Amino acid sequence: MKRDKVLDRIENTKEPWDFLVIGGGATGLGVAVDAAARGYNTLVVEQYDFSKGTSSRSTKLVHGGVRYLKQGNISLVLEALRERGLLTENAPHLVHPLAFIVPIYSWWEGPFYGIGMTIYDRLAGKLGLKPSESLSREETLKRIPTLEATGLQGGVSYYDGQFDDSRLAVNLAQTIIDLGGAAANYLGVVSLIKEADLVVGAVLQDSESGKQHTVRAKVVVNATGVFCDSVRKMDEPDAKTIIAPSQGAHLVLPKAFLPGDSAIMVPQTSDGRVLFAVPWHDCVVVGTTDTSVDHIEVEPRPMEEEIGFILTNASKYLSKRPSRSDVLSVFAGLRPLVKVGDAKSTAALSRDHTILISNSGLLTIAGGKWTTYRKMAEDAVTQAETLAGFEERPCQTEHLQVHGWTKQSIPEPNLRVYGADAPAIREIAAADAELANKIHPDLPYIGAEVVWAVREEMARTVEDVLARRTRALLLGARPSIEAAPRVAELMARELGTNGEWTKKAVADYEKIAQGYVLKAE
Ligand SMILES: Cc1cc2nc3c(=O)[nH]c(=O)nc-3n(C[C@H](O)[C@H](O)[C@H](O)COP(=O)(O)OP(=O)(O)OC[C@H]3O[C@@H](n4cnc5c(N)ncnc54)[C@H](O)[C@@H]3O)c2cc1C
Repeated sequence: MKRDKVLDRIENTKEPWDFLVIGGGATGLGVAVDAAARGYNTLVVEQYDFSKGTSSRSTKLVHGGVRYLKQGNISLVLEALRERGLLTENAPHLVHPLAFIVPIYSWWEGPFYGIGMTIYDRLAGKLGLKPSESLSREETLKRIPTLEATGLQGGVSYYDGQFDDSRLAVNLAQTIIDLGGAAANYLGVVSLIKEADLVVGAVLQDSESGKQHTVRAKVVVNATGVFCDSVRKMDEPDAKTIIAPSQGAHLVLPKAFLPGDSAIMVPQTSDGRVLFAVPWHDCVVVGTTDTSVDHIEVEPRPMEEEIGFILTNASKYLSKRPSRSDVLSVFAGLRPLVKVGDAKSTAALSRDHTILISNSGLLTIAGGKWTTYRKMAEDAVTQAETLAGFEERPCQTEHLQVHGWTKQSIPEPNLRVYGADAPAIREIAAADAELANKIHPDLPYIGAEVVWAVREEMARTVEDVLARRTRALLLGARPSIEAAPRVAELMARELGTNGEWTKKAVADYEKIAQGYVLKAE
């Protein structure tokens, strides 16, 4: 996946593209995969890096949504469970079944959650992962030795999926290219082109070179998540905003807080939300919150209240109480919730997706979740076909293998997420012993991954490598800052840049990464 080649192709494409998709998160990449798989000439552009927005900041679950079951939203749960099953089959290198344990502290919770999880299993049907079960107190503590034992009566275990969000985004961008489409990062839409009051293309700005490209397309899809109102306003300056952003924060803790392979799911915290503590890449992700915000930031910052809320609630369920100094990284994301009526709280807003078509034919798709990105894309492309007057072509993604698909087991833990690409990274390390070395003693990544990220995954900045190609920023914000000079040096060699670039690349990274370091009070 070479950025220069994509830019050349954009420059040399004189015919209108069938699809121009704006936004390189789960939604936009999903739409572009679907359109390219149906044989449409497709281009997707992202103003920063793939999944720089919400799509790299999720709780990393591919789930039906136990919470929606509690709300009685059965159709949403059914759809999500089906998508969970398909994604587990289509990207087995990135999605894994994970056991979740609901700890039971009062007599009624056992039967209540036991029945709920049985319904959850049944709704998944043939695409179910593994059946739920009731656990005794001893079994529960054996599976999660760090669970608060005082008052514990037992547990209910059920299965959901877990994944690596930004790795999936990169693999989807590669899938688009494998299917003959085009995908580029650092290429933002700065304005839309209209003819006879219809949207017929866009002006793209390359944030590296400053160069602008004008592209024409038969359909333009706005898949820019929480930013979608800004693109809608490029079309209709008076358009009413539809996004009610809601922030969710997470803390990452060392594995010692949750040894073993099971996650904890607390169905009801003090604010009525679900809290997860999930083992992930040999650490533990704890979250999340639901805080309505009025600012849409590219780098949302977790608020002190959110950090306090997660630490307090995690401490209620863990015998080893986490404190600020234990936190390896703290990150937040903004949910692109679509406003419905006069809903008062963001927790009540729809998690389902919405498709809007403007009078000038701009198709906006927003809402939903990572788990359902494929179905959202299918709906959007089918609607776009009608909009553009294309003859309908059947969706091809239900069983489409995502780039990297493999069922082979990969012995090196850090290479597993690369799936079928792992041998190529192994070869880079074998050819140059220096690249087989870790980039930092406290991080699992090696130099060859940095080289691979630049050569094959369109990584352009130190942040692309440390935040989204590897997950160093989330697994250890401090060590990732210490690793930045080495990463920049390796990248400079690949990109053929000079010492000035390296210096600035490190400084830029440090500025962003400091926001993920939790300072002791
Ligand atoms: C805290 C939290 C936890 C979550 N956990 C889960 C979970 O565990 N499982 C799950 O299934 N879902 C989860 N979700 C939901 C899921 O992450 C989101 O629904 C999904 O990532 C949204 O993707 P998106 O592509 O719509 O938006 P984004 O990922 O934000 O992508 C939009 C992209 O558009 C780009 N863009 C904006 N303007 C322009 C422009 N003018 N030109 C070009 N590009 C532009 C942005 O830079 C951005 O990268 C969670 C969400 C949050 C906030």
